Amino acid sequence: MQVLPQTRVQGVPSGRNLSCSKAVGGTPLRALTRDVVRPARSVNVHVVADGESADDVLLRSSSVAVAEKPKVSGRAFRRSLKDTGRYVAKPINDKDSLDLMEEHGVGYSSVGLVAQMRANNNEWRFKDIRVKLASAYGYCWGVERAVQMAYEAKKKYPDRQIHLTNEIIHNPTVNERMTEMDINIIEQKENGSKDFSKVSRQDVVILPAFGASVQELSLLKDLEVQIVDTTCPWVSKVWTAVDNQARKAHTSVIHGKYSHEETIATASFAETYLIVRDIEEANYVCNYILNGGNKEEFLTKFKNAISKGFDPDRDLARVGLANQTTMLRDETMAIGKLLEKTMIQKHGPAAIKEHFMVMDTICDATQERQDAVYQLVGQQDNPAEKLDLILVVGGFNSSNTSHLQEIPELKNIPSFWVNEAACIDPVNKKITHRTAHGTMLDTQNWLPDGPVTIGVTSGASTPDRAVEEVLEAVFKTRDASFGGIAPNYDLGTAPVVRHEEH
Ligand code: SF4
Repeated sequence: MQVLPQTRVQGVPSGRNLSCSKAVGGTPLRALTRDVVRPARSVNVHVVADGESADDVLLRSSSVAVAEKPKVSGRAFRRSLKDTGRYVAKPINDKDSLDLMEEHGVGYSSVGLVAQMRANNNEWRFKDIRVKLASAYGYCWGVERAVQMAYEAKKKYPDRQIHLTNEIIHNPTVNERMTEMDINIIEQKENGSKDFSKVSRQDVVILPAFGASVQELSLLKDLEVQIVDTTCPWVSKVWTAVDNQARKAHTSVIHGKYSHEETIATASFAETYLIVRDIEEANYVCNYILNGGNKEEFLTKFKNAISKGFDPDRDLARVGLANQTTMLRDETMAIGKLLEKTMIQKHGPAAIKEHFMVMDTICDATQERQDAVYQLVGQQDNPAEKLDLILVVGGFNSSNTSHLQEIPELKNIPSFWVNEAACIDPVNKKITHRTAHGTMLDTQNWLPDGPVTIGVTSGASTPDRAVEEVLEAVFKTRDASFGGIAPNYDLGTAPVVRHEEH
């Protein structure tokens, strides 16, 4: 593998909340993008202090002192919001909104480069560059649905102040569009708390695709605002599983990251929970279940990942599996099997139903995108199909995109994770990119001279326009006179199959 000159981006230890056009040396391709004023982005961090659980994060998630759980279950409480007459949880498939999304570059491409690639067997050639687009990439159904609902809300409530409780999805371009449409993303302070003080009764509040905690729902109900709940139905399905586990006095073992917004929301729907990040942590838990162990060590290890008052000697007698939807599907399934096997060993096969609960809540979107990257990198022994490098496009705080980047890194294929076209500087032949583990790098002369084959994929929260702009920056790097790809209005087919509510 060719070693390219790389420098660590100064003062940027992690890519979280960073965008190339904002903080590092990319040159924004204004000529190739819409002529928009880009305001400063909101900050989206859950700062988890030492020893602080997801519960604690929730309890200080508001400047208004009402962040307590309602008395009924989270699921029942969420259902009860329908009775207020101020709660919407489904899109209406408004055509104007869908058209505007595409015009704003936050929908599926139907005439641009990505659409043209789709019509051309997912391939494109520009001079001596061959681009191969993964067979599954970009927006998943739940993300498109959430953005669509935000556009529909803007159309329906043109004169009301609209807020978002968080970034609607993990993509900088989409969140910029929200801000440009005068949708206020509620600020999080340095300590992770949110300031709801500017939200008033006449306002509309949109909940993001990965949901909101029961405490936030309760707060918004009390504020009597119009709620537009874009939570992906797959995420709601996880909440149903967690609610069932709570009603049967099972501890929810959540495969996820304890500081991720979706997992924080899921934990809020549970009574007792333990969050495990990977199979290694699950193994530790299962070993404790079977053989006991050092309770203090257990509580220290999971200090940020357990419900208040969690006691491993008491709370691991009955467990149920839940998942953050962007985690690796195979790993979630492996953790489920491990828990089931452990409980059979501990309590015997006849009693397994009393000690272990599982419900299929796995969304395939993340895995499909990973499988497609494996497919892309699976032909490295074939000179005709071998990739010289891979571009991964997606928000730097996108969990599923980081998993896509991991695959070429593990295979030692040069790979560059960028979140927008501004990461590529065609003039200085430089790319600013992130590694799967969060290091920001500048790489000079990253695009080899001569014939080159580039694999491309994008995260589940990445609109097609972001991929198109990145590829145009690549072509511009090869040929400074490149002037963009003309839209093709003759493709004539629907760009994607849209799904039914489920
Ligand atoms: S990845 Fe799956 S669960 Fe997450 S928003 Fe997309 S469709 Fe929904």
